[in-house]
Amino acid sequence: MVDLQFPSSLDETCELMSSSSGEGRIIAGGVALMILIHHQLYFPTRLISIKRIPDLDQIRFDKGKGLSIGALVTHHQVESSPLVLKNYPALAECIHHVGNLRVRNMGTLMGDLCQADNHSDPTPLLGVLGASVRARSIRGERIIPIEQFHRGIYETDLKEDEIATEITIPPPHPGTRTRYLRFSGNSPIDWPSLVVAGSLTLEDGQCRELRISVGCLTEIPVSLKQQAETLKGKSLTPSKVKKFAQSCASEMDLTSDTQGSAWYKKRLVEVYIRRTVEQLLRSKG
Ligand SMILES: Cc1cc2nc3c(=O)[nH]c(=O)nc-3n(C[C@H](O)[C@H](O)[C@H](O)COP(=O)(O)OP(=O)(O)OC[C@H]3O[C@@H](n4cnc5c(N)ncnc54)[C@H](O)[C@@H]3O)c2cc1C
Repeated sequence: MVDLQFPSSLDETCELMSSSSGEGRIIAGGVALMILIHHQLYFPTRLISIKRIPDLDQIRFDKGKGLSIGALVTHHQVESSPLVLKNYPALAECIHHVGNLRVRNMGTLMGDLCQADNHSDPTPLLGVLGASVRARSIRGERIIPIEQFHRGIYETDLKEDEIATEITIPPPHPGTRTRYLRFSGNSPIDWPSLVVAGSLTLEDGQCRELRISVGCLTEIPVSLKQQAETLKGKSLTPSKVKKFAQSCASEMDLTSDTQGSAWYKKRLVEVYIRRTVEQLLRSKG
């Protein structure tokens, strides 16, 4: 028998998680969890639904603080939010590509992050945007930068009694362009085989800051910080962009699997990094 709980507050949820001896599992939209249960891969003893907790389904924006996305906000809410469309258009576009409308209507963005599938669409982009996850337990709250949130495939930094309550994204920097590109080897509506997210700030036509994050090819997204640093203060000519993409690809540690050989993946990621930077250069600030 599964013990299904419907707490009505975060405090109550934390108490339930704390008293569950590691057996308590949060359920939000249930999209990922129900598949595991249906296929008898996971046998829960205590499921804690957060559906009745007020306010977790809210998206808020403040010019000084940035964006806040509650743990119950669905993908569809994100992709259609006027606040997201206006201030973080690349995020709205990225979420629009997640699965299909049924998945986006039921699945939450937080559930996507907590499931920690390495083929997640939004994770690399949230890294580029500087997002964090707020986690809570009876011990209090802590903020986890998204780049430290994922520990491996299906593994997060959350402790067994913690609930993730909110995703926060800093305010958009005026003049910073952000892009997200995905490649799916099977069909455009399938999970991505490769995701590249990037942001670029130019100053007097030269690169002030470039951020690139690559998802799907490794256990957790790779942020190409050192490589991007080499372009700081330079004008991004086509040949510099090409060399940058080549050096990023050559330095990535990739393995051959059913998605393709390491050689193929390097070629693919090189093309997509180059295209991302080219699109960043073409897009408006
Ligand atoms: C057919 C299909 C196609 C898909 N395609 C894509 C795709 O193209 N791109 C993509 O990125 N994703 C894709 N997904 C994944 C989908 O985005 C996620 O499964 C969904 O967002 C999970 O959200 P949920 O609210 O349903 O999570 P749930 O199923 O409720 O939970 C998932 C996991 O997260 C944990 N969890 C959830 N919320 C919290 C919380 N607040 N605190 C702590 N732990 C929590 C749960 O305990 C569970 O372990 C696809 C899924 C399906 C079924």
